[in-house]
Amino acid sequence: MAIHARAELESRKERMLSEDLLARGIRDAAVIGAMREVPREAFLSPDMARFAYDDGPLPIEEGQTISQPYIVAYMIEALELQGTERVLEVGTGSGYAAAVLSLCAAEVFTVERIAPLAQSARERLERLGYRKVTVHLGDGTMGWKEHAPYQAIVVTAGAPEVPAELMEQLASGGRLVIPVGPTPHLQELVRVRRQADGSFKRENLCPVRFVPLIGEQGW
Ligand code: SAM
Repeated sequence: MAIHARAELESRKERMLSEDLLARGIRDAAVIGAMREVPREAFLSPDMARFAYDDGPLPIEEGQTISQPYIVAYMIEALELQGTERVLEVGTGSGYAAAVLSLCAAEVFTVERIAPLAQSARERLERLGYRKVTVHLGDGTMGWKEHAPYQAIVVTAGAPEVPAELMEQLASGGRLVIPVGPTPHLQELVRVRRQADGSFKRENLCPVRFVPLIGEQGW
């Protein structure tokens, strides 16, 4: 990339951090640091790279999207990570959110149902050096039992209800953040906490709009 194009992206990134994240209330220093470090342009096709720090979702392959930077930061902040957690992400997409998560947690297991997306995310994360992320091809509504329990689970596609299997794979004290709604494209972001006695506490965070979660416990 030409030097002036790189400088332009860096200045757009600083604008995104101050206007889209800090000014809207993102406070977690690890999340802000990770959003500064991960090059969002590297997760986009070359013709989309110049929009990398715009305030919105962008198209990726297979008709899917990479989420708006603010929403990525908001969801990761809502997981309340300390840096020691094993995290499950459902919906790898480009791998961008998994890369950000990996700088805020100990390990990230991420599941994608579309094979070409899982494959290109795996290659991209490897090439960029995000070694704490493991990508799996499968139906993420069923979680990834092999590595459970998870101290945090984040779902980046909208579900009709919170999948029971994901609640099952949440550790005691763990947090699950997921868009839930009655139609496939309009949801409320929900946080579920597993209490010490095994019960679950549910909070609504904000309205969101995600692509549908498709699978056995999705649409
Ligand atoms: N986190 C991604 C990123 O940073 O690029 C954005 C994810 S995109 C909004 C949602 C993704 O969820 C899509 O790639 C879609 O294929 C995937 N998805 C939908 N249903 C799924 C399921 N049951 N299991 C795994 N992935 C699923």
